[in-house]
Amino acid sequence: MLFCRVSAVSQTLVRWGRRSHRGGGLLRGAVSFSSSRCHGSAQPTETDSAQGLYRDTVLLPRTDFPMKLSGQKLLDRELEIQKECGFADLYSWQRERKAKREFCLHDGPPYANGDAHVGHALNKILKDIRNRFEMLRGRQVHFIPGWDCHGLPIELKALGELGTSGLSPLQIRQKAREFAEGAIARQKAAFQRWGVIADWDHCYYTYDAAYEAAQLNVFQEMHSKGLIYQDYKPVFWSPSSRTALAEAELEYNPDHVSRAIYATFPLTTLPPKMASEKGLEGVSVLVWTTQPWTIPANQAVCYMPSSQYSVVKRADNSQLLLVATDRAASIAALLGTELQSVGTFTGSQLEGGLCKHPTIPDKEVPLLPANHVTMAKGTGLVHTAPAHGMDDYSVASQFKLSVECTVDEDGKFNELAGPELHSLSVMTEGTDKVISMLKECGALVKEEQCVHSYPYDWRTKQPVVIRPSKQWFINTASLKDKAKEALQKVRVLPESARSSLLAMLDKRTYWCISRQRSWGVPIPVFYHRETGEALINKHTVSHIAELFKEKGCDCWWELPVEALLPPEVLKKSNAGPVTDYIRGEDVLDIWFDSGASWAAVLGEPDPRADVYVEGKDQLGGWFQSSLLTSVAVRNKAPYKSLVVHGFAVSEHGEKMSKSLGNVVDPDTVINGGKDPSMPAYGADVLRWWVAESNVFSEVQIGPTALNSARDSISKLRNTLKFLLGNLQGFDPRAQAVDPKQMHYIDQYMLHLLREFSIKVTDAYSEFDASRVIRILQAFISRDLSSFYFSIIKDRLYCDSEDSLGRRSCQTALEEILDGVTRSIAPVLPHVAEEVYLYAPGHDKGETLFKSGWIKSSSVWRRPGLEEAVEGACAIRDSFLSSIPGKNAAQYDLTIAIEPGLLFELMESLQEEPTSTSSQLAELMMAARVNLTSELPRDLPPDTLLSHGTFLINLEGGVIREDSAYSLAVVPTSAARCPRCRRYTAESADCLCPRCQTVVSQA
Ligand SMILES: [Zn+2]
Repeated sequence: MLFCRVSAVSQTLVRWGRRSHRGGGLLRGAVSFSSSRCHGSAQPTETDSAQGLYRDTVLLPRTDFPMKLSGQKLLDRELEIQKECGFADLYSWQRERKAKREFCLHDGPPYANGDAHVGHALNKILKDIRNRFEMLRGRQVHFIPGWDCHGLPIELKALGELGTSGLSPLQIRQKAREFAEGAIARQKAAFQRWGVIADWDHCYYTYDAAYEAAQLNVFQEMHSKGLIYQDYKPVFWSPSSRTALAEAELEYNPDHVSRAIYATFPLTTLPPKMASEKGLEGVSVLVWTTQPWTIPANQAVCYMPSSQYSVVKRADNSQLLLVATDRAASIAALLGTELQSVGTFTGSQLEGGLCKHPTIPDKEVPLLPANHVTMAKGTGLVHTAPAHGMDDYSVASQFKLSVECTVDEDGKFNELAGPELHSLSVMTEGTDKVISMLKECGALVKEEQCVHSYPYDWRTKQPVVIRPSKQWFINTASLKDKAKEALQKVRVLPESARSSLLAMLDKRTYWCISRQRSWGVPIPVFYHRETGEALINKHTVSHIAELFKEKGCDCWWELPVEALLPPEVLKKSNAGPVTDYIRGEDVLDIWFDSGASWAAVLGEPDPRADVYVEGKDQLGGWFQSSLLTSVAVRNKAPYKSLVVHGFAVSEHGEKMSKSLGNVVDPDTVINGGKDPSMPAYGADVLRWWVAESNVFSEVQIGPTALNSARDSISKLRNTLKFLLGNLQGFDPRAQAVDPKQMHYIDQYMLHLLREFSIKVTDAYSEFDASRVIRILQAFISRDLSSFYFSIIKDRLYCDSEDSLGRRSCQTALEEILDGVTRSIAPVLPHVAEEVYLYAPGHDKGETLFKSGWIKSSSVWRRPGLEEAVEGACAIRDSFLSSIPGKNAAQYDLTIAIEPGLLFELMESLQEEPTSTSSQLAELMMAARVNLTSELPRDLPPDTLLSHGTFLINLEGGVIREDSAYSLAVVPTSAARCPRCRRYTAESADCLCPRCQTVVSQA
């Protein structure tokens, strides 16, 4: 035996050595394991009892690793794994170890106003998958989770039915803080249950003293650069929350119904360029508005200078109206009368005209040119109320019109609106009154219901109005170009999100950052009692920042003004006595809070994250506010790359909402619901759902997705169980076979494993866990289950336990188990650690996450190996298709190949002309394989003949050879071996030569 093997080895070496000039060291050093045949008969005669007799000599897979876990057992197991495998300590462990590079993922703070939902699950798990991957491959991960703790929604929820009545700012703040703390505790527990690894003991909170101080420093830097200013201008105002709102705090209701009106403004002074025309006495300008309550605030009527306008005469009452020529036809239809053109003018000819205000006696308003005038709807002549419209305000700035406000903080007309309107709510009875006033004076031409998209307060769900007030602003227009430039260096995933990001930047010309509430970081400004002038400079702000750092920002309300504005600060500020000043009452927009997180959370000297990962709603939110503050302070983005994911939606693709009853609660997903149709899936199913989804689009969740995730994990467990079962008793540290001495097919599997691990690593690096899953599933079903596992069972179960062939196979299986487990560990940390508890090759107590990424060796990349195995597989395919549906093990196969590369490759898999136990025979799964250069002439009449070709492509295409082969297949004359059940025995009562040797050695 031994001699046979040695001589086979030396023959192989000699042959490959001699031919190395052709194959470039093709498979050099490989060893053939063809065993010598031995003759002998098994003693027992009766076949069935013979099989029973040998059952104990067959090495079937054994493992305690459970195939499937469900219900409470599954949940208990996950919690045990979290504890046993140190999920809680992993973050600090990896922070303390030495690592060459850091990977910094800066957590966008979720809002602390409710329980964890699937949107959080999608976001946090996506981040955790990447962090765990980076951790495994040796990076030092920086991930500090945070919460956005301030703001109106929390304030409103904390106050509940109480409202603000009778509570001091400090009392409101206390309640809001308690509310936020409760929400944070519940969310944090959920995130930990999902297996998210983070610095849970050192999270950041926007209400922390140190955070607030860092935020004020950013504010101060921006103020000193002149980027923050106070101004009186129209803002979105929510009467229901009595505060200004930012664009990000609005929700547009597409079904809002307004009372739209057409009204006339009589021309009292004709524009000079129209004056020469005859018959234009008594012309009225016709305007259209969906907000009649703004008519009392009208200061002008705007036209488009480049458009055509017509004076038309109503056929029914001879009234003369000035309208845009393009709008005349639809206005005629609306009024139900014909309109006869009396004269046509270009817009620019309207210059210098004056109209009478319809409701205010003796008030005249000018006709003015403006570029925002649209011809898509209305009359082409735009009623302009500078206090109540953004475009109107810019016209007012240009022409120095009054921006007088007629609406108070509750959304009611103030005394400036006149006694008839005073204290009427503008959106309801105020509108009614204005319309009836217009009717009375004969200015109302038509009223209609208009359904259009209208901004609502995102929290109270009530419509907002536009009204001017004194607010603090960031001049985003002057930051925009720098921000765009900084974005050019940022990688955006998916790249298509970049244009939305840029469009959002363009849309925002200023950013209103003051809010008239208590639960927030105060704007550190003082006002002069008499003049109202603001006192704010680097001395005042630095002093306040110090105080906040030490005491938290409650001190803004707690301390006397003398402590906030001490003499030395007043002196440096060249200000008068402290008694001249009162503190401001506004707080900062929460988007400014979270937008400054880079300064408060990321480490010095260069607070910049590798990546920010958030939902697409942050394109105009946190991504933008962070960019603007960072660009303002230091002229660069706070992130090197951005990952923008979609939202979680219901199984049918709808937005989740309580009213639709389609909300999927992640807690129910994990722990199961009352309804038996909602089983306990555990955290790994939730994680698989995230990983498997295309997170760059809308992500659907429901029973179908969750059941499919559970089934996929079951299939994976099945494969892992097969691997573990066949590794029973194998210690790779002592028994692993050197790759060069392994069977070619085993080496080939290591080669495939190496390719698999490269692809998986790439996919994780691209934030594409769904690709990881597709690669994994293809590897398992195609390369492992249908191919490798079906071939190797005989060798694993029936070769002698310690044989080189079996150990070679186990060496490959152990590497595969390790590679597959590690590849899936970022997605399924619980399953991966559970497998690791059963896996051989490491000491008890070691955990997978502390032992690194997939170890693939370049030794596994062997030239010629692929061609040898793939050539054999091509031949196998021809063989199997020549005996459709029949058992390959019952046939003898003769392979005839003309001398050449393919023949040499096949020879490396089978030394002898004929064999039942060569690697080639194993691959073919045939009873016997004959390898020859031409088919014998005397083939039996029932021989099945087939032919094929295989293209050998070696050394990157340098060597290409199309090789033909012929196959002859005949039913074997051998009998079935009672032990291994292969058709390799001389007679039914006799063991095959291999089994005879194995049994006799046992
Ligand atoms: Zn046998």
